[in-house]
Amino acid sequence: MDKQGFTTSIVHGDRIAGTEFGDVRQPIHTSVQYGFERVEDLIGVFQGTRKGGFNYARQGTPTTAALERKITSLEEGVGTVCFGTGMAAITATFLTLLRAGDHLVSSQYVFGNTNSLFGTLRGFGIEVTTVDAGDAENVKNALRPNTRMVFVESVANPGTQIPDLQRIGELCRERAIAYVVDNTITSPALFRPKAVGASLVINSLTKTIAGHGAALGGAVTDTGAFDWSAYPNIADDYRRAAPKEQGLLQIRKKGLRDMGASLSSEHAHSIAMGAETLALRVKQSSDNALALARFLEKHEAVGKVFYPGLESHPQYGIAQALFKGASWLLSFELRDAGRMAEVVNALKLPIKATGLGDTRTLIIPVAPTIFFEAGAETRKAMGISDGMLRLSVGIEDIDDLIADFSQALKAAG
Ligand SMILES: *Cc1c(COP(=O)(O)O)cnc(C)c1O
Repeated sequence: MDKQGFTTSIVHGDRIAGTEFGDVRQPIHTSVQYGFERVEDLIGVFQGTRKGGFNYARQGTPTTAALERKITSLEEGVGTVCFGTGMAAITATFLTLLRAGDHLVSSQYVFGNTNSLFGTLRGFGIEVTTVDAGDAENVKNALRPNTRMVFVESVANPGTQIPDLQRIGELCRERAIAYVVDNTITSPALFRPKAVGASLVINSLTKTIAGHGAALGGAVTDTGAFDWSAYPNIADDYRRAAPKEQGLLQIRKKGLRDMGASLSSEHAHSIAMGAETLALRVKQSSDNALALARFLEKHEAVGKVFYPGLESHPQYGIAQALFKGASWLLSFELRDAGRMAEVVNALKLPIKATGLGDTRTLIIPVAPTIFFEAGAETRKAMGISDGMLRLSVGIEDIDDLIADFSQALKAAG
């Protein structure tokens, strides 16, 4: 069949790949064990010579495998491994591909828990340098002979900074360094990191891919761009696979089988259902976010607005050139930070909650909650002011959102 569009391929993927009774979506397979008529087949699954088989659900089930195929197709990659959460996918990527004595360069603007994980990596003897990746020169200057990996987020949460994605990709290709892009905020509906030479793409499936705040999951997708045969940290056992498959095979075996942060079939099913409407939801929530950003930017009670769809955003040009939309993540500051509680409490629609990529709009003051433990110094380095409010814009009707913000900002003077 000709190459299909984003949404066509996801809504027909299960049926076309084949299901037992003509199910239009992959059923929820709850078995932990998989049995075989002939012992030779059992041995073949363990040794990897019998393709597509399952042996123990920690390493995957037909339901998680169906989701992996969907994510691979959305990212136009060569393969995907799913995990129980986005953090599990990130942790597995670092711990399976880096060793003591290796060096990792990361954007300084990353998800708070990822930043906290860097402390754990340092404890294991992995050096981590964080830089302002908005300028690829900063990444270049941080590289050392033992740098194995560069890590960035397509759009940083919560400050919405965008790295120089294209030039960092070129740099990593020249130096044969693995380039890992966390695509959670843009999702493949707005951006495919493969287009800028990413080796691996991470998605927290919990967010906009599942979309309804009802399931946790994470994924690592190999784009096929990186030559793993030249990567020093692949174990001999996995060198036998084709060069393109070696990285993901090691992530699956060590990260999923040995570390065990597996995705359940129930959650994989729920995520796959949400993914069917990914492009539709992201279009609506991104359009809403842009309209709301424009409204807030003009409002006299509002100070700075951080949104890559605004001409005032420092990386507006990159967002225009690379993304189909500027996403649903929007942060802003009130002119009078002292009115924060008043304004937030006056809002009727946005839910005062953490979380991202939901169908409903969520709002949270960043410094006293998700970045509280990080401390003032780290917050400053990550560009987070005491008054920053983060919005995950949902799919509500835009007139209702604007009316609600309008009354809340007025109520607070
Ligand atoms: C939420 C998030 C994660 C972690 O995902 P979980 O599924 O919550 O573990 C990683 N990266 C980014 C950018 C996120 O927003």
